[in-house]
Amino acid sequence: MSSNDLALDVCLQCGESRESVKANEYICGIMGGGEYNELIMDWPTHRWADWNDRELTAAGIKSGSFHKYRRTPIQSLPYSDCKDMVRGHILATKETDYRDYGAKIGQCIDCRQYPEIAKKAD
Ligand SMILES: [Zn+2]
Ligand SMILES: [Zn+2]
Repeated sequence: MSSNDLALDVCLQCGESRESVKANEYICGIMGGGEYNELIMDWPTHRWADWNDRELTAAGIKSGSFHKYRRTPIQSLPYSDCKDMVRGHILATKETDYRDYGAKIGQCIDCRQYPEIAKKAD
């Protein structure tokens, strides 16, 4: 379990509990868009069950790390730790990456670590 995990009675998509969904007849969706407060994502049904292996694979999670992400909110899955993702770190390779992503050459655009330096320190 990580601190990111949602409780068993909470929808992995909209983050509402079964109780509040029932009481308010909430549809499954996420509001956003600032002042317009519009629905930015929505799903036909709420999702109470843990993510299965196929879904975590589709989200880019390594099979050895599935157990950490069974109850991670759907919006957080794309921002999982680089070490748990099949893609690994995304290293900045050119000077302009600093302007575009705020990462220097050899630094990960996503998590801001320097994997080569971290490796040497191990
Ligand atoms: Zn929902
Ligand atoms: Zn990284």
